[in-house]
Amino acid sequence: MTYDYDVLIVGGGLVGGSLALALAKTSLRIAVIESIPAETRLASSAGDRALALAWGSSLILDQIGIWQEVVKKAAPIRHIHVSDRSHFGKLRMDAEREGVPALGYVATARSLEEAVAEKLSLSPVTMICPANVVGLKASEDAVHVSLREGTESTNLTARLLVAADGGNSTTRKLLEIGQTVRDYRQTAIVTEVNTSKSSDFTAYERFTPVGPLAFLPIAKRRYSVVWTQQTDDAADLMGISETEFVRQLQSAFGYWLGKLSLASRWQGFPLKLIRAERMTDQRVVLVGNAMHQLHPVAGQGLNLGLRDIGLLADMLISRLDFGEDIGERRFLERYAQARQEDLNRVIGFTDSTVRIFSTEFFPMAWGRNLGLLALDRFPPGKRLLARYAMGLGDRIPRFG
Ligand SMILES: Cc1cc2nc3c(=O)[nH]c(=O)nc-3n(C[C@H](O)[C@H](O)[C@H](O)COP(=O)(O)OP(=O)(O)OC[C@H]3O[C@@H](n4cnc5c(N)ncnc54)[C@H](O)[C@@H]3O)c2cc1C
Repeated sequence: MTYDYDVLIVGGGLVGGSLALALAKTSLRIAVIESIPAETRLASSAGDRALALAWGSSLILDQIGIWQEVVKKAAPIRHIHVSDRSHFGKLRMDAEREGVPALGYVATARSLEEAVAEKLSLSPVTMICPANVVGLKASEDAVHVSLREGTESTNLTARLLVAADGGNSTTRKLLEIGQTVRDYRQTAIVTEVNTSKSSDFTAYERFTPVGPLAFLPIAKRRYSVVWTQQTDDAADLMGISETEFVRQLQSAFGYWLGKLSLASRWQGFPLKLIRAERMTDQRVVLVGNAMHQLHPVAGQGLNLGLRDIGLLADMLISRLDFGEDIGERRFLERYAQARQEDLNRVIGFTDSTVRIFSTEFFPMAWGRNLGLLALDRFPPGKRLLARYAMGLGDRIPRFG
């Protein structure tokens, strides 16, 4: 049978775009179907959110050829400081002690999206945009996709379809793949602040009674803030004055970085844990947020998505070398099995962190503080945690 493409990627966000780049040098004919034009996506205020990239993610972005560009606008995380407000527990991690120049990096979503879009525009990958997937049918030997491009309808075939269309994945719905959803009833308030004290590039994670508060370094005197609040409280915060917002933020965070002043208007992102019940279907694989949407407390969503596509690219390229079918069922199942452990660990860790640290119930608060303290004084445990935080828990996929 003849195919229009070998691989169709639905969703040209950070995960779908990165997969296209990871495969761009192969003989595979690849198309990315994206519903929103690049200029609209790049202009969106959601691009302001800062993303903590694990060290392992920087190695993946290097292989797809964008790290040199991204790192120019990124800040290193040299230390991580975890604390529980009004309690004794603290945990510190240090890049030097781990033998790496940085535990991770902080970059805005926009700078990453720009680097992906620029590199894609120079690659042989076909961008079908703006277009929406409206129908999907897979058979033993091909996947058939119906697209709507404005008023036009098109049908395409491929050997493999990769769903990278985000937390609200149309592909997942069209395939009737179930999902488990945990609505945390929390909203992440995201903003940037200037600090009166100069930073040594420490990332702070502070657990407060209303929810976790993360400060990520973006420059010597500038931090990105992700402040998780109960949705009702967040709605109140959205309406207050700048002076009152800064007062409340300063009171929740303290004076680790001196006096804070606001550098950008705050915006809210509702938080849910969504996990698809299956990672594969006939000739289809789900990656990134289409497979797993996480609470940003541990900064792991994109990191996990990059590891999805890193391994998928690695396995697809090996398979291509042997001239074997890239959409075959057992092959896709092997991929899903290989991703399972990392997914379970990161999703489980993120979900328990949100639940354990969102309570002031005395035994829980006491227990978590003892946990932090014990971990801080137990080098092997801390080392393991640091490796996971750096995204080095698993083998780094090689496809570049
Ligand atoms: C406040 C906040 C802070 C975060 N902090 C971190 C962090 O520090 N570290 C980290 O690793 N992660 C973090 N994340 C998570 C990270 O942003 C996401 O995991 C990541 O952006 C998901 O990328 P994606 O490409 O899978 O999905 P998306 O970015 O949602 O992209 C999906 C794409 O598919 C397109 N699309 C949707 N439907 C269709 C369709 N039917 N047809 C065609 N195209 C379609 C969309 O237009 C979009 O471009 C954070 C998230 C939030 C909200």
